[in-house]
Amino acid sequence: MIPGCVFCRIVKGESPAEIEYEDEEVLAFKDLYPKAPIHLLIIPKRHIESIASLESEDEAVVGHCVRVARLLAERLDYGERGYRVSCNTGPEGGQVVYHLHLHFTAGRRG
Ligand code: AMP
Ligand code: ZN
Repeated sequence: MIPGCVFCRIVKGESPAEIEYEDEEVLAFKDLYPKAPIHLLIIPKRHIESIASLESEDEAVVGHCVRVARLLAERLDYGERGYRVSCNTGPEGGQVVYHLHLHFTAGRRG
């Protein structure tokens, strides 16, 4: 856990969030400023900065995050209609929070 990291604080229950999914390794919660009708963030509970800082031992949890995206899509009835999973990386990639997260958006075309 990294002091001052907003997503680590959510993992620890020190900051509020609308949790949509939780297991031992992964947490998913609503984005505070949604950019689509459904906008969730899926994060590894363990602090990993970004794709740019991934180590080989992080592969399993990142794969797990992707599977949680599929699970949430099916649970929310977007499995067939489709959805977007994206990961902003680094300053020119639009990353603002440096705790790796997948954006899960659905319900809007384009
Ligand atoms: P990124 O630009 O990929 O780093 O995205 C960070 C995302 O985190 C943005 O979409 C923000 O709206 C969202 N965000 C920031 N703080 C919080 C928070 N406390 N709870 C939920 N979402 C947040
Ligand atoms: Zn963190």
